[in-house]
Amino acid sequence: MTLANQAALRHKTEQALRELGINQTVIAHRTLPFFEDIDEALLVVAEIDENGKRHRLTKPAAGAWLEMKQAALQDGVALLLVSAWRSFDYQTDLIRLKQQRGIAPETFFTALAPPGCSEHHTGRAVDINTPGCDEVIGIFGETLAFRWLKDNATRFGFSLSFPPDNPWGFIYEPWHWCWNP
Ligand SMILES: [Zn+2]
Repeated sequence: MTLANQAALRHKTEQALRELGINQTVIAHRTLPFFEDIDEALLVVAEIDENGKRHRLTKPAAGAWLEMKQAALQDGVALLLVSAWRSFDYQTDLIRLKQQRGIAPETFFTALAPPGCSEHHTGRAVDINTPGCDEVIGIFGETLAFRWLKDNATRFGFSLSFPPDNPWGFIYEPWHWCWNP
């Protein structure tokens, strides 16, 4: 990404935060990455979940996801797609929901990226869960599914984006993986 692009993305994020009434200082001390919202035309439906929600990824990322899911299943491990591509506007809506619940930005920005800073904008990031794991947050890291991912995900091009003590100030997110070609 060019520096001009980077500056434009930063500006767009700052604008969105202003509109949300969130002080820029909340994220100013963090070196958050910026991601361009991918063109929707490049996305395909990777999975339709039990609630009928259509999770979209780029075509190669969707292919890699399905291959990985199939391989896990052969090892007796079920992987479920919880969240895939998220647009800038959708990310903004998620933040608005947190605000409506009275959660402080200092808190929710440790698990939720500001719009423009979410790896989900790329159409290559996935949040994964497994049946029987009610809460994605916290306990997914203790499941057999997570152990399988740790041993096998790299074979399919997926890596864990936010390990413990990551430099971006996000909490440890064992459910969040990104396909990096
Ligand atoms: Zn995620």
